[in-house]
Amino acid sequence: LFVAFEGGEGAGKSTQARMLVDALQAEGYRVLLTREPGATDVGRTLRQIVLDPATGDLSPRTEVLLYAADKAEHVDAVVLPALERGDVVVCDRYVDSTLAYQAGGRALDREEVERVARWSTRQLRPHLTVLLDVDPSVGRSRFEVADRLEAEPKEFHARVRDTFLDLAESDRNHYLVVSADRSVVAIADEVLERVRPLLGL
Ligand code: C5P
Repeated sequence: LFVAFEGGEGAGKSTQARMLVDALQAEGYRVLLTREPGATDVGRTLRQIVLDPATGDLSPRTEVLLYAADKAEHVDAVVLPALERGDVVVCDRYVDSTLAYQAGGRALDREEVERVARWSTRQLRPHLTVLLDVDPSVGRSRFEVADRLEAEPKEFHARVRDTFLDLAESDRNHYLVVSADRSVVAIADEVLERVRPLLGL
């Protein structure tokens, strides 16, 4: 079973991913918690490059390719081996983040970006994507230091949010969309209920 958490900055993805992992492990499942970008050695270097404000402006296509390189390594070295072992994989950000930030935020063609992202990930899709929807201004107030992407203007983050919601709208069965202003525990319960019937995949 492969579950991805998606959403804007400060939506609570990492908290919810952790809570799902803890709940499943407590029930005896073998679970791998991982994330994009930055779950492999090369991925950590790529993460540093894309997120360091000192990197400055990049061509949007360069940015796509750096995230794509992180994905290719992540899927080959981490995600696929774990799924082949039969582990549950919970991933903090995946292909939808690229569609939201690089296609939506950077205003690149979504189909083109999607082709690159799907190629990088060998067309591997999660069984379920949990979208934590947050108003960007609320999300932004939840952290102090901004990385290179977080420092983008609010219009950028509004496009990111709209793209996430649009993706979820276009494939409703695949998504659980949760408003991130609900309580952490209420969200975690809803996620677990939605995941439960998928266990065994
Ligand atoms: O969620 P996390 O802090 O790990 O995200 C890292 C950063 O990378 C965020 O600022 C997010 O905006 C950015 N990002 C991105 N494109 C992706 C994935 C993450 O711009 N495809």
